[in-house]
Amino acid sequence: MHASSPEPSRDGSVPEPAALELLRRVFGYASFRGQQQAIVEHVAGGGDALVLMPTGGGKSLCYQIPALLRPGTGIVVSPLIALMQDQVEALRQLGVHAACLNSTLDAAGARQVERELLDGALDLLYVAPERLLTTRFLSLLERSRIALFAIDEAHCVSQWGHDFRPEYRELTVLHERWPQVPRIALTATADPPTRREIVEHLALEQARCFVSSFDRPNIRYSVVHKDNPRRQLLDFLAGHRGESGIVYCLSRRKTEETAAFLAGRGIPALPYHAGLPAEVRAEHQRRFLREDGIVMCATIAFGMGIDKPDVRFVAHLDLPKSIEGYYQETGRAGRDGEPAEAWMAYGLGDVVLLRQMIEQSEAGEERKRLERRKLEQLLGYCESVQCRRQVLLAAFGEAYRSPAGREGCGNCDNCLQPVRTWNATEAARKALSCVYRTGQRFGAAHVIDVLRGADTEKVRQFRHHELSTYGIGADLDAATWRSVLRQLVVAGLLEVDAEGHGSLRLTEAARPVLRGERAVPMREEAARPQRGGERRSDSTLYVDPGDRALFDALRAWRAQAAREQNVPAYVIFHDRTLRDIAQLRPATLGELARVGGIGGSKLGRYGQAVLEIVREAG
Ligand code: ADP
Ligand code: ZN
Repeated sequence: MHASSPEPSRDGSVPEPAALELLRRVFGYASFRGQQQAIVEHVAGGGDALVLMPTGGGKSLCYQIPALLRPGTGIVVSPLIALMQDQVEALRQLGVHAACLNSTLDAAGARQVERELLDGALDLLYVAPERLLTTRFLSLLERSRIALFAIDEAHCVSQWGHDFRPEYRELTVLHERWPQVPRIALTATADPPTRREIVEHLALEQARCFVSSFDRPNIRYSVVHKDNPRRQLLDFLAGHRGESGIVYCLSRRKTEETAAFLAGRGIPALPYHAGLPAEVRAEHQRRFLREDGIVMCATIAFGMGIDKPDVRFVAHLDLPKSIEGYYQETGRAGRDGEPAEAWMAYGLGDVVLLRQMIEQSEAGEERKRLERRKLEQLLGYCESVQCRRQVLLAAFGEAYRSPAGREGCGNCDNCLQPVRTWNATEAARKALSCVYRTGQRFGAAHVIDVLRGADTEKVRQFRHHELSTYGIGADLDAATWRSVLRQLVVAGLLEVDAEGHGSLRLTEAARPVLRGERAVPMREEAARPQRGGERRSDSTLYVDPGDRALFDALRAWRAQAAREQNVPAYVIFHDRTLRDIAQLRPATLGELARVGGIGGSKLGRYGQAVLEIVREAG
């Protein structure tokens, strides 16, 4: 495609700016989002850019459109070999000449791509950093015309993140050898230290920095108090039947157990972790990307670059390690801008486990202090009674501004169901003194047994039924006590032993509470949410019941078309596009073209088939 000049408009009106014309004709979108237009114009005009945009914000267009507007090939550096093919496929579906070069290609295939590059036949070429840095490839670039360099997942230059890729630091060679070619670096990692590392290690001091809001308004955040996690997960999933999502677990074993448990309940779930054989991992990832409705039970090994747009939920069965991590993981939901959910179940056990992991790690004291601070911040988020979005964005230095006339975002659990607090001073004193009386060497379960006056072997063995605190907490149930102990730990009145037995000890801060000098308000755990199902309409893509049959027929057609071409379903059409078709029921290609996400190429390829299905549906 050579799109440097806009097509003359037939009616003689002022032609659209070239970028907008491309957006409409090729990508089928009506308008740019957020800062896309400013970025596209800046880079198309030859400027360097650093783009910080949340996942799903629409980063790809920021380099794809300038690459189409400028003469030559756009070179895209991406660390995600496994996903390059899908990205290239999505572009080909749009009629863009795209290819990739990586180790999965055989020699003949690679030579073919190289020839196309030299001939100027490619709009975009995706390449892995290690391939890009080879002498052979660099000399090939010397003989080619280059439109721009896009450096995707630019946070891979950061030594502190877990995506560090040493080759990324050598990418300054691009700037040294091709100073006149614009470079655009992109990332969804927001924190200022990472941003500074990117600027420094990619020599982007002169680049214009485009920082978008990191808010993901379509994601609904909620945190529940863990009491029966499997049942809670099933309840949550009941609101997402047939939808794709990710369930994050801390351990490899738990991913497998959870997947097996869900599969036993008729939910198509698969495990994913770094300990699985490479071919199993690849197969599970492939199925997640290509089939509708797979639930991936995974460790954080699963995720970077999963640019499947229609992941409808991300659930955490265990506490993540930091707010940054949590935001990145949950950011994989709802890239298509449709409603999605980020849900987490958390309890005292998680706090104990993570504290132990930090204390027992081999890391130096400085690193441990940093990790402790990050955990505190995350716990603050979990226990917060404010709008969760506000807390999350504040962690990235962004002040969230509520829509006019509203307090909070209106799309998190705390906003939807304001948290009630209760005066837990008395309960806190009972709990603290029970910890003290039992010798500060037991975990939460036993402390709760003593408080509630339970008759267990351990109680008898240690003669704890003779203590003054035995049975003083019989008025509250065990779940409430768990919540009290957890909140005491998070508030720093109790601490968990560093040796790893999970035993609780008082801290200095507990004294004034014990002496009755300090009141302790606590969060009341939300009543158990009703079974999923009914919540469906506002947390998932809304399809009018009257359009459902046609929508399902279109999805079935899409699945078939995707299988025939061996591509993921979403590169053909997104759910939203199918939903809009089902609503509009177009009778002609002209009407169909009005639906968002249908550019010229897709109209030509699939238009007739779609109209046929609409016609059959009557
Ligand atoms: P990112 O790389 O920032 O996570 P993508 O580039 O994958 O995001 O875009 C996310 C989704 O938004 C994609 O499905 C893309 O097609 C869609 N999108 C991007 N820009 C627009 C736009 N201007 N109008 C409509 N949809 C868009
Ligand atoms: Zn909110």
